[in-house]
Amino acid sequence: MSPEKNTQKAQKSLSIVVPAYNEKDVLPEFHRRLTEVVNELGMETEIIYINDGSLDNTLEVMGLLRESDPRVAILDLSRNFGKEIAMSAGLDVTSGDAVVIIDADLQDPPELIPDFIQYWDEGYDSVYAKRLARNGESFLKKGTAFLFYRVIDRLTGITIPKDSGDFRLLSRRAVDALKQIREQHRFMKGLFAWIGYPQKAVFYNRDPRFAGKTKWNYWKLWNFALEGITSFSIAPLKISTYMGLFTAFGALSYMCYVFITALIYGDPVRGYPSLMVVILFLGGVQLISLGMIGEYLGRMFNETKRRPLYLINEYLPSQKGGHDK
Ligand code: UDP
Ligand code: MG
Repeated sequence: MSPEKNTQKAQKSLSIVVPAYNEKDVLPEFHRRLTEVVNELGMETEIIYINDGSLDNTLEVMGLLRESDPRVAILDLSRNFGKEIAMSAGLDVTSGDAVVIIDADLQDPPELIPDFIQYWDEGYDSVYAKRLARNGESFLKKGTAFLFYRVIDRLTGITIPKDSGDFRLLSRRAVDALKQIREQHRFMKGLFAWIGYPQKAVFYNRDPRFAGKTKWNYWKLWNFALEGITSFSIAPLKISTYMGLFTAFGALSYMCYVFITALIYGDPVRGYPSLMVVILFLGGVQLISLGMIGEYLGRMFNETKRRPLYLINEYLPSQKGGHDK
């Protein structure tokens, strides 16, 4: 590394955003591994732990870390807002020239951060980690994740990088761009892609969780997928239009058939089964379409209320480097 580069790095500062919900068991080990990496960087750093309304004593553990390390800042949210919003809250208080978002559960190896920084130095605004293998995840989760990325890719105009999570580095201008997006339904992976700017992938192997357990279940994942699709595409609404057209066309053909057979064979009364099938089918199609409209309507309802994204219980800035607000 050239000496100029070193001085340039020393002037730049780094913020690390760590959303945490019930992570008391992992945080000390996480902090140890993270600081091992950060110490080598020689950059001015702040590590922002976001307590997303944890039910265990995650906040106390964060407090201990802050006592022992002046780089630690704590953002304590008023309740659990979910990871997407916790991350946004973290981004809002960052001041570094670059921001790294990383999970607290050590599934995102901090050891990748130097690679992120290297690409950032080369001019990339968003350097994200892309996993090669998903160790410790069930076949079903792998399969659904695979499907999810493919569907999103096809339905939305935006290409969300496959097999990547939220673990990434963002440049200051990318963070500023994200801060302007205040929608309530935040599908961060989509938003990261939406802002554009030069992006770069770094490959890694995803480890199983170090301790604690995942907050995801299939119902949450399903809603997450729905969120992704509805906040980036109106394709489902279009699909219901075509479903309507298709059934109308079917109805028309069937009408002709009924009409002609009545003319030829007289008018024998059609049976109960055919009526039942038609009624149920049309009812189903209508309810599905209504549901799709409802999904969008509900989201509009939530957006129009214009509530703040989150509320802060307490913000304890880092005690070093004077880049506190
Ligand atoms: N998380 C959070 N708020 C929540 C749920 C999760 O801040 O409501 C944090 C969690 O502490 C972790 C990260 O988001 O640091 C990823 O969560 P998790 O490991 O449960 O997700 P997975 O890795 O299984 O996708
Ligand atoms: Mg995890």
